[in-house]
Amino acid sequence: MKNIINLFFCTLLVVNMLGGCSREFVSSDSDTENSPHSVVQENHTAKTLSDLLLPESPSQEIMPDDLPLSEIQFSDSEELSRDTTTNDTPSDTVLPEPPSSEYEESYYESSNQTMTDISPSPEVSSPVPEESPEKTTTQDSLPVVPNGKIIVIDPGHGKSSSLMSEQEKNDFGYTYVQGKGWGEWRHFKSGTMWEDCEGYGCSGRTPENGSCWYPIGASNRATEPDLNYNNAVNAKKYLEQLGYTVRITRGPEDSPSITQRIRKCYPNDDISLEPDASAYVCIHSNAGGGRGSCYISLSGLYDQGDIPENYVEVGNALGKSINDCITQKTSMPKWSSGEYTGYPELVLFCKSPVPVAYLEIGFYDNAFDLNILQQESDSIGKAIAEGIDAYFNR
Ligand SMILES: [Zn+2]
Repeated sequence: MKNIINLFFCTLLVVNMLGGCSREFVSSDSDTENSPHSVVQENHTAKTLSDLLLPESPSQEIMPDDLPLSEIQFSDSEELSRDTTTNDTPSDTVLPEPPSSEYEESYYESSNQTMTDISPSPEVSSPVPEESPEKTTTQDSLPVVPNGKIIVIDPGHGKSSSLMSEQEKNDFGYTYVQGKGWGEWRHFKSGTMWEDCEGYGCSGRTPENGSCWYPIGASNRATEPDLNYNNAVNAKKYLEQLGYTVRITRGPEDSPSITQRIRKCYPNDDISLEPDASAYVCIHSNAGGGRGSCYISLSGLYDQGDIPENYVEVGNALGKSINDCITQKTSMPKWSSGEYTGYPELVLFCKSPVPVAYLEIGFYDNAFDLNILQQESDSIGKAIAEGIDAYFNR
């Protein structure tokens, strides 16, 4: 608690002196017509007492998302490099090096939870804003000068696969494999970008005892997809004001495969060309018990084609920059140190041709975090944009 209060007051005092997260944007008034979410208050300074009286900030006992527990238990492993169709259960899985012994302990504890442990609040279904129209002018009608950088923003998850027709699954890039069902290959042959590994020739990032195949099902969430989408659309709005070109990977009502999403890293989705995006920013929210925002870090070998030599360093620095801005400029606290190291083999990390920043913004199954996600999406989007801009202008 004390640390949180200190952090907030500290933030209030110094945030405008920090180069990193401080950017001038046009008044939010000018965005009202373009974004349903601009009515959400900008809550950078008007912290309420309840904001300051939140429970102790999460520490090591908290599980980042999507991750072990929630993804495995819910067969919701879009971004998890664990195959729920195998015996790859937490109890018999060799886990990546955990950040601490506390983490390991909590992993096993939390993995005993089931879907019923998470009770998405009905009011979560806040209206999903339409994607902002292309915005090329500021409030003063001054043209935004493109800065030449392209950012892919990926709102995690999407339409429930149980609601998708077979045609939709095909269209979204999933394939049907006899005996396995609908899904896609998690890895490509080492050194190539688009050739299915078909179970052989996986990169060094294959999870131990894991499979190349992972099933569709990652979108079967009631709460998270809309939260992610709202944050992503708001980030897009502010990035465009800063001169970035933004490609968003999905609409409010669909759920492309990872393979299809990363096509946005190429000009006109054309994978025969060189990728032209500077970064891929993946927006999620966590579940499984905990509080606060973190980024999932990369480490070790990634050998898919096209990636730059500094793929790991750029992704981690960008993830940190964004997460720092979110936790400095919104009411969202930081999860632990803000870095989650336990899942370097995430599907996306092993497929993307450009550096990836992977954010787990709060825990949507925590009432405090959920309230922030619902009430401060505009500020979160702004902080994402500022974090990206701070990285590229450092
Ligand atoms: Zn997620």
